Amino acid sequence: ARIGAVLRCSHCYGSAPWGFEAEQPFVNQVLVADTDLAPHEVLAEVHRIERELGRNRAAEAVERAATGQRYVSRPIDIDILFYDDEVIDSERLTVPHPLMGEREFALVPLCEIMRQRRHPVTGRTVGEMLEELRNK
Ligand code: AMP
Repeated sequence: ARIGAVLRCSHCYGSAPWGFEAEQPFVNQVLVADTDLAPHEVLAEVHRIERELGRNRAAEAVERAATGQRYVSRPIDIDILFYDDEVIDSERLTVPHPLMGEREFALVPLCEIMRQRRHPVTGRTVGEMLEELRNK
């Protein structure tokens, strides 16, 4: 089983590294996809895609330990922001993504394609979340 068709996608946005120093800027994009997979299966598929695109979590752990940084450069990082209106809080998966409201680089592309979508816990729209973050 695979994640299904991409239904919508935002433009790509450049951003400065968040939470650590890095040479290269980041590129951020939000996609909406259809899927028959359950949330944990989507996460497993996301990890498979990250590996396929050259991500090596073991090497990142070594680099984090060596540099003392919480984040290190990665070729790709895929996060699950929403899964329908589900609220999931398990050891391996938290949905909606808990840091979404603190990350302009996630909210800006998200706003482009679903400004009116409401966070299932707070009831705030994505547009409101971005406004609140910018007013902080
Ligand atoms: P990463 O930022 O890609 O290194 O993610 C680290 C871990 O966060 C993953 O292995 C997941 O188990 C966990 N995680 C928890 N919630 C989420 C989410 N909504 N999307 C992606 N990863 C998540």
